[in-house]
Amino acid sequence: KGGLFRLWCLVERNTSQKVLGADGCGTPVNIIVGSHVWVEDSELAWIDGQVSKITGQEAEIESSNGKKMVVKLVKIYPKDMEAPAAGVDDMTKLSYLHEPGVLQNLKTRYELNEIYTYTGNILIAINPFQRLPHLYDGHMMQQYKGAPFGELNPHVFAVADVAYRAMINEGKSNSILVSGESGAGKTETTKMLMRYLAFLGGRAATEGRTVEQQVLESNPVLEAFGNAKTVRNNNSRQDDIKLQGRISGAAIRTYLLERSRVCQVSDPERNYHCFYLLCAAPQEEIEKYKLANPKSFHYLNQSRCYELVGVSDAHDYLATRRAMDIVGISAKEQEAIFRVVAAILHLGNIEFSKGSEVDSSVPKDDKAKFHLKMTSELLMCDPDALEDALCKRVMITPEEVIKRSLDPQSAAISRDGLAKTVYSRLFDWLVDKINVSIGQDATSKSLIGVLDIYGFESFKTNSFEQFCINFTNEKLQQHFNQHVFKMEQEEYTKEQIDWSYIEFVDNQDVLDLIEKKPGGIVALLDEACMFPKSTHETFANKLYQTFKTHKRFIKPKLSRTDFTIAHYAGEVQYQSDQFLDKNKDYVVPEHQDLLGVSKCPFVAGLFPPLPEETAKSSKFSSIGSRFKLQLQSLMETLNSTEPHYVRCVKPNNFLKPAVFENVNIMQQLRCGGVLEAIRISCAGYPTRKPFFEFINRFGLLAPEVLEGNYDEKVACTKILEKKGLKGFQIGKTKVFLRAGQMAELDARRTEW
Ligand code: ATP
Repeated sequence: KGGLFRLWCLVERNTSQKVLGADGCGTPVNIIVGSHVWVEDSELAWIDGQVSKITGQEAEIESSNGKKMVVKLVKIYPKDMEAPAAGVDDMTKLSYLHEPGVLQNLKTRYELNEIYTYTGNILIAINPFQRLPHLYDGHMMQQYKGAPFGELNPHVFAVADVAYRAMINEGKSNSILVSGESGAGKTETTKMLMRYLAFLGGRAATEGRTVEQQVLESNPVLEAFGNAKTVRNNNSRQDDIKLQGRISGAAIRTYLLERSRVCQVSDPERNYHCFYLLCAAPQEEIEKYKLANPKSFHYLNQSRCYELVGVSDAHDYLATRRAMDIVGISAKEQEAIFRVVAAILHLGNIEFSKGSEVDSSVPKDDKAKFHLKMTSELLMCDPDALEDALCKRVMITPEEVIKRSLDPQSAAISRDGLAKTVYSRLFDWLVDKINVSIGQDATSKSLIGVLDIYGFESFKTNSFEQFCINFTNEKLQQHFNQHVFKMEQEEYTKEQIDWSYIEFVDNQDVLDLIEKKPGGIVALLDEACMFPKSTHETFANKLYQTFKTHKRFIKPKLSRTDFTIAHYAGEVQYQSDQFLDKNKDYVVPEHQDLLGVSKCPFVAGLFPPLPEETAKSSKFSSIGSRFKLQLQSLMETLNSTEPHYVRCVKPNNFLKPAVFENVNIMQQLRCGGVLEAIRISCAGYPTRKPFFEFINRFGLLAPEVLEGNYDEKVACTKILEKKGLKGFQIGKTKVFLRAGQMAELDARRTEW
C-alpha cells in the first residue's frame, strides 16, 4: 500500500547494465566497504550509516544510531558527505538527488528556520507553526522586488515576483498553484502571495479594501456553511471539496458540499457550523425563528457533540454576519439566509405516523404539526402544500393525475431530501454571490491566478468526496508533470544538450479510468443513478466486470462493494455504499413546485423554473459529471497560464514548531508530486555541476589534465572519459550526469 507509481520512464541507449537502485530511477549503485549510505527505516523513513561488509548482493551496515543491519544493495543510497552544513536552497543542487537526500536537506534547513526550498521551479514551504515576522516584512518585500529568480533565498515572494514580471513584461497570464493538506499553510501562503502582489501594485483596492482582504473576508461565510467538525479534524476541517481559485481581483470557488451531512450526523461529528451559530444568535433572533437548544433538533442531536473546544458559536455568529456585510450580502438577504437555516432545523423535527388510509402518513403529533407550521412560515409557503409535498407523490397517467400517499418512512426520506436540496441550493447561492461580489475584472487580458487546492486524501473510509478530491489531484498532477517535464527540457535546451530520448509517460490511464466517456467510473455511476433498481452492490459489480483487467483498478479481496484505485500517490480503497446517493442531484418535482412559488423571493429564487425540456426529459443531474466539467474548465484556464507551484507541507500533526516528522513529510512530498518531479530529473540528468565545481571535486581523479592552462570544459570531458563513464553530457556551463554517476565518481575518489 502506498507504493509509488512511476509516471515516467526512460528509454535508454548504451547504458551499461548495473545493479538498479531502489528508487526506480535506474540508479546504478556504487557501494563499497566504508561508504556512507542511507537505508530505509520504518520509524525515521531513512537512516544513515556506514557499510562494514559486502557479501554478494547484500551489505552489512552500522547505522548512526548504533544498529547493525543487513540490507540488499539495491536498497542502499549513497550519502553525500560533502553536502553543505546549511543544506542547499535548491534540490537540483544536491549531488545525490534521491528521497533521503531530499528529506535530509529539508530537515537541515527547517532546523535553521529556512522553511522554503526549491526543487527546480517548485517551492516547498514547510509550515513553521510560529510567527517569523522578519520573513514577510516590508524590507523583505523590497529585496525581492525585481531580483532574478534563484538569486535570493527561496521565498513565496520570489515566486510571486516571477509571475508578476512575466505578466507585466510579456503580457502572459500566470497561475500560482498552492497545495497541501489541511493545516499545511495554504491560506497563509495565499495571503502572503496576495500581499506581495498588492505591494507590487497589483489591482488597486476597492472601497479602501485590498483584494487580499476581500478574499479573506469571505472565508468565514463559506466556512460557516461549508465546514463541520469531523472525526479527522477536531476543528473546522473543511469537509467539502475545495477547488478554490483565487485570481488576484477575483475568486472562483467551487465547492462540492457533502449534502448528506445536513440530515445525518454521526457521533462525535457535527453538522455544518451555521446551524449551531444560529442557535447561539442573540435572543431576538432565537425568538423570531422559534429556535432552542441544538439538543432539541433532530438534525443536530444524532450526535452528542454540540460544542467545539475554544470556539464560541455566539461570537462566530456575529463574525459571520459581519463577514456577510463585508462581502456585500444585504441585510434582507442575510435575514432570508438564516430564516432558511432555521426552517431546515424545524423541518427535521417533523415526524410522521401512519395516516387513516393504507400506506399513508400524517404529522405524528402536535409537536410535529408545530414544526410543520414553523417550516412553512419560515419558507413562506402554504402549510398544506408543504404537508402534501412531504407525504404525497403526484402520479401522472395518460388518463388522470393522481396523488399517491407515502408511508411514514418514505415521508421521512422525502423530508430529508427536501432539507438537503434547500441547503445545497442555499450554499450554491452563497458561493455565487461571493464570486460575484469579489468580482473578476473581465477586461484584464493577463492575470495572475492564485489557486488553493485541497491535497490528496486517503483515510480509513473513503467516500464520494475523497473520490472527487483525488480525481482533482490526478488532474493537477498530470498538469504538473507535463509542466515539470517541459521545464527540464528547457534547461537541457539552454545548455544545448540532447534530451531526445527521454520519454514521457503520465497518469492518463488513471484519468481514463475515472473520467472516460463512455465507460469511466463517473459515467458508470451516472448510469447506475438513472436506473431505479440500482444499488451500490450492482454498481460495484459493474465496476468489477468493466475494469477486471485495468491495471489501476483493484477489487479488494475482503469486500464485495469496495473498490481500490491505484492513484499516483498510492492506492485508495473507496466504499461504494453512498456513491449513488451522493452523486444524485435530483430535486423531487413536488418540492420544486412547492418552493418555486414561495412568497419569499429569496426562497423562490433558489428554485427557478426548470426549462420545459429538462423538466420532462431527465430529472436526473449528476454531481460527479458537473464536477468533471468544472475541473475541465479549470484545466483549460490553467493551460492558458504559466504555472508556478507551491507545495505546502505540514511537518507534524501536533501543529507545533520545530517538530519534523520524517515519515509524515515523505508521504506529503509523495502526494504533492515533489518526488515525481525528482523522478523526472532522475530520468534525465539529475546531477548538474558547473564546470569549476566538478573540477574541484574530481580533478584529483585525473590531475594530468589540470596541468598548465586548461579549458574547463575540455578538462571535465577528459576526467569523465578517463573514468570510462558513458551517457553523460557536457553543456555550455555545466556537466550533466546520469543517475548514479556521481556516486560512481565519488567511489573512485575514495579508492584513489
Ligand atoms: P485548511 O486547508 O484546513 O484551510 P491551510 O493549509 O489553509 O488549512 P493554514 O490555515 O494556512 O492552513 O495554516 C494553519 C496554521 O499554520 C495557521 O493558522 C498558522 O498558525 C500556521 N502557519 C501556516 N503558515 C505559516 C507561516 N508561513 N508562518 C507562520 N505560521 C504559519
